[in-house]
Amino acid sequence: MTPPTTDASTSPVARSPVWAEAAHQQYPSASLYIVATPIGNVCDISVRALYVLGLADAVACEDTRNTGQLLGRLGLNKPLIAAHMHNEREVAARLIARLQAGERIALVSDAGTPAVSDPGARIVDAVRAAGLRVVPVPGPSAAITALSASGLLDPAFHFVGFLPAKAKQRETALQPLRTMAATLVFYEAPHRIHDCVAALAAVFPPERQIVFARELTKLFEEIHRCPLGEAAAWLAADAHREKGEYVVLLAGAPAQDEAGAAEAERVLRILLAELPVKQAAALAAQITGAKKNDLYARALALKDA
Ligand code: SAM
Repeated sequence: MTPPTTDASTSPVARSPVWAEAAHQQYPSASLYIVATPIGNVCDISVRALYVLGLADAVACEDTRNTGQLLGRLGLNKPLIAAHMHNEREVAARLIARLQAGERIALVSDAGTPAVSDPGARIVDAVRAAGLRVVPVPGPSAAITALSASGLLDPAFHFVGFLPAKAKQRETALQPLRTMAATLVFYEAPHRIHDCVAALAAVFPPERQIVFARELTKLFEEIHRCPLGEAAAWLAADAHREKGEYVVLLAGAPAQDEAGAAEAERVLRILLAELPVKQAAALAAQITGAKKNDLYARALALKDA
């Protein structure tokens, strides 16, 4: 198979042996290619992504303007199909018809890996259900990029993505994560970064390490780590920090906290089956050493569930 004819074919990449290797790999037709794209630095496009995009009959994308610009920078010009969160189901049917006709279609989002806090999952689900092939072409992801440069040592991480916009729902989402022994990974929009930090500070202890990974791979990339108790002051210290894209990482709870919390929950559930909320919480606190107020809040949530 010869490489697709693009401006990129005259670049150093095209002269690299790896480009020739890409040209000799298999790219089955009648397949949907899930192509990760850069999160800021266009040079982070992978050779395989470049090759697949060059080969695709069409590119389904979250925003045709953004993807048109990206393809232009890659020296490509392809038919684009808008595929965003409001039309995923309907687009899936159109893509399936084209795939069944033997086309290769690439699916991209505005940045990073499609279907990760981005549209795409419904399309992938429908294409797989139709018995067609889905081929991942991995590459940048803001979450993994932030984790890799954080220096946080937890072997596990828990991807939360975007927290709810409303304060009460945010707190409800955060409470069960308090004792999790894994780094928590949040995506956040710049206009909500202060609210996000305030919500974290209300639920987690001030000594927990937080990492702000801002504008990753871009000109003003900033990666800052500090105790959660100092996070609001760091944000407020520079007005530029209210702009740009953020991944926020929060170090996990010590493992014994998680084990202790599981035991407190077990005892609380047993007592709650026999006793009123207040008494069950007080006794569970005495037995396990957990905080009475925390157990009371948890008992109320269990009763409401
Ligand atoms: N699918 C993408 C991925 O694989 O990472 C994520 C898309 S999600 C709609 C966009 C969010 O990802 C932003 O609000 C921000 O939290 C994070 N993000 C994307 N690019 C980033 C960057 N260059 N630096 C920091 N965070 C980024």
